[in-house]
Amino acid sequence: MLTVNQAESLILEMISPLDQTEIRPLENVFNRVLAESVSSHLDFPYWDNSAMDGYAVKFEDVQGATPDRPVVLTVIEAIPAGRKPQLTLRSQQAARIFTGAMLPAGADTIVMQENTTSQGDRVSILIAPSKPQMFVRKKGEYAEAGKILLAKGTMIKEPEMAILATAQKNEVTVYRRPLVAIFSTGDELISPDQTLEPGQIIDSNQFALTSFLQGQGAIPLNLGIVADDRDRLRETMSQAINGADLVLSTGGVSVGDYDYVEELLKELGGEILIQSVAIKPGKPLTVAKFTNGCIYFGIPGNPVSALVSCWRFVQPALKKLSGLTHPWRPSFIKASTKNSLKPDSKRETYLWGKVHWDDLGNAQFQVASGSHSSGNLINLTQTNCLAYLPKSEQIIELDQAILVMLVR
Ligand code: AMP
Ligand code: MG
Repeated sequence: MLTVNQAESLILEMISPLDQTEIRPLENVFNRVLAESVSSHLDFPYWDNSAMDGYAVKFEDVQGATPDRPVVLTVIEAIPAGRKPQLTLRSQQAARIFTGAMLPAGADTIVMQENTTSQGDRVSILIAPSKPQMFVRKKGEYAEAGKILLAKGTMIKEPEMAILATAQKNEVTVYRRPLVAIFSTGDELISPDQTLEPGQIIDSNQFALTSFLQGQGAIPLNLGIVADDRDRLRETMSQAINGADLVLSTGGVSVGDYDYVEELLKELGGEILIQSVAIKPGKPLTVAKFTNGCIYFGIPGNPVSALVSCWRFVQPALKKLSGLTHPWRPSFIKASTKNSLKPDSKRETYLWGKVHWDDLGNAQFQVASGSHSSGNLINLTQTNCLAYLPKSEQIIELDQAILVMLVR
């Protein structure tokens, strides 16, 4: 049995980022991974411009101005944002200017409107700016033309959309989204729209895992429910392995009489890399690799085990596969626990619950109330983290510091 870290390292080692890319219009690249480095032929700002409504002046003209001895300048033009200045400023002249407007040639400083009074084409500067270049946004101050603004492997979120737009990247090269086949195994399973007969179980995993995949930017390929029948299972597994980058099947990986996944993986030519992991919940995780590059995750069927396996192992795999740069591993933060917690002596334990931040910004972990059976999906609601408990014989006391893994 592998440790969690060993399993995670093995998974990350065998995953290579997708090499196919797509060119998409700017409007359609939110939440995609950039497959090119982006620079621009423009400087940012594009030209010197004003950060204030006020007057563009020469610093040397106004440096001695005080309310008692204002400096009076002649206003030669008004420059709203969007208009190109027409004149060059000479000594003792000013231009009326507005936020974002281009600085006229000859001006080097902006005096804010509040520090002036005006009459006709005259403006009195009442307070001298403290230094030259005051309230001037210099051309190229944020980034010069040619500089890399966004690196390959960046997830495109709101700020990156703004940067791509301003760099005039109307078409963006992004990685293709991973295609992930998903199905549930078990004779007992029915879909939520069927009537429940005694002994049956409603297939919740398909919904949890599909949503998980959508949240990760992958394309789920739903292959439904497959009975514990060797031939049918083999057929679906083969279809999944040949049609997807990754496969997630739930159930059938324990040691029961109807747990066929591992032997079928071998039959289908898979190289089994992981057979079980010292983690609670989720021990029977089975991972195999195929020569076509497909990675198969045989995930335990219990609903909590299934989600914990996705959060702990599939998520890093998908991140790397998607072309994202580091980090792929989940984020762990320090929190103080508001409950005493019981670790397992043989396996790393991940207890589901909620982290919240108090008024001082301290993270506090509250374990989900109710049964912590891996079959109890009901108290998973509102889970935003998993408390990470290393193997130990000792109870973790109230208010003790622990690490929690953020899941959303
Ligand atoms: P298995 O891993 O196949 O031994 O299943 C372990 C437990 O998880 C059993 O109680 C199953 O009924 C339950 N289970 C398996 N698959 C699902 C599923 N897709 N949705 C909900 N529960 C499931
Ligand atoms: Mg089963």
